[in-house]
Amino acid sequence: MKRALNKAIAAVLPLILALIAYSPAFPEERLQKLFGDAVSSNNVLIVHTSLKTENGREKPAIEKMRIQRGRARLIQEQALGEIDPSQYQIEIMDSSGRPLFRANFQYPRFRTVPPAPPSTSKETTQPQPSQIPVETPEVSFVLPFLYKASSVRISREGDQGPAASMSMLNASASEIIRTETEPSPPPAQEGKFHILIMASGYSSADMPLFQTRAKEIKTYLLSKEPFLSKSSSVDIHIHENTLDLGCYCGCLGIDRLSCCIDNQVISAAAASGYYYDEIIIVHNTATYCGGGYRDYSKTGYQTSGYNTYTMVYAGDWSSPMALHEFGHSFGDLCDEYSYGTEGYTYYDCANCRPDCQEFGSLAKACYQGCDAESAYFRPDESIMLSLGNEYYNNVSIRNSLLSRMSYYVPNQDKTVSIAGFTPESGKAGTKVTITGKNFSSKKEGNIVKFSGKTAKVLSVKSSGTILNVTVPSGAKTGYITVTVGKLTGKSKKKFTVLT
Ligand SMILES: [Zn+2]
Repeated sequence: MKRALNKAIAAVLPLILALIAYSPAFPEERLQKLFGDAVSSNNVLIVHTSLKTENGREKPAIEKMRIQRGRARLIQEQALGEIDPSQYQIEIMDSSGRPLFRANFQYPRFRTVPPAPPSTSKETTQPQPSQIPVETPEVSFVLPFLYKASSVRISREGDQGPAASMSMLNASASEIIRTETEPSPPPAQEGKFHILIMASGYSSADMPLFQTRAKEIKTYLLSKEPFLSKSSSVDIHIHENTLDLGCYCGCLGIDRLSCCIDNQVISAAAASGYYYDEIIIVHNTATYCGGGYRDYSKTGYQTSGYNTYTMVYAGDWSSPMALHEFGHSFGDLCDEYSYGTEGYTYYDCANCRPDCQEFGSLAKACYQGCDAESAYFRPDESIMLSLGNEYYNNVSIRNSLLSRMSYYVPNQDKTVSIAGFTPESGKAGTKVTITGKNFSSKKEGNIVKFSGKTAKVLSVKSSGTILNVTVPSGAKTGYITVTVGKLTGKSKKKFTVLT
């Protein structure tokens, strides 16, 4: 047993050492800040996992791990605060079992089938199947490769012990692969939303055709809300991928549905060297087919999974289809048309609701018949109803797409506000806790005044939502203000200064 282990170590160690020695330019400052001396190289660790059901219980398994050149998009820190305890997390551990990196993720739940093009007569189309549950989802996670990494595990909060784990040294040599792909990644900018449009099935000679199609989709997406208003913060990269993604039309016996091999898609995306938050694949076929995924996320957008993407064929409807399927895979939107069949359990989405009132004033109209549940309602017409409507409706934009974009592109409409303070009265020198929004996370970045007298800021907590200060001497009863840069927030109540 021990000898076998030593053998495995002997087989893998040179690879890892070669990798460390080979690691080129030092990584970005952001990685350093997050991981300190456990910092990664420009390599990524790709963990291939699958989800199987055993005795009615979901069980993830780690299939293999690969290390290749590429970029891991870092998890937005604020997203980690919204953890649903029922969800899995993936962790990279050091040899002492200390987690070096932790990210939440979720498996894709449904494939979506593109609607028939509006020009098609009903008689010539196959009946529309509901979204297709993904039976045994395969998922790849692109994680930073950390020098001190020793094992990877998947666990779920509340479970005893990890659901799956794999040690890097115990993995057989074939499971840790260093690929030779060496793209030169363009610099990524913080605060941007990155979409990767990737070729499938195009030979090098065909690439000009892919470029034309991809640029058309890019221009189209950027001309639609909510991307239009945020276009300076949306980066769409076009990648002339030649790796086989295993895409084909007619998947699962449905003519209009295309499927790819998920793990190959994710590996190819990582190998592109681009940062990416979402993927759109253009498959080189004239046959009308495509698809997407819905991640079905209750608690917030999962930025860390890299496990949903959109696929489109190469033809006249590629761009509207991309917008529609992107509405599923990025926006977690539902189809607004009725399939005419019931049968799948209904899952929440912003644009299909059991009650018109839930749309509020965002909807100008409300119609019955939405997705697989015909009793549900949809708001105004949109591309989720028909590819002929080349826009998302207001409800989808406001209640889903914009909030998902805010994980990447911070909202511009920042205001500093004071929600309250405690105690409400005190003498000079009394410690007062102020709660509110958008305080500077550095204490010296906040100017706090009690009726105009500057107070000493002791500390900032909870990423700028709590300030601890002391009542300045000479202060009089009055309002508290907090100034951050050019923005000032004022308390609703007066603080009473006791003498
Ligand atoms: Zn759809």
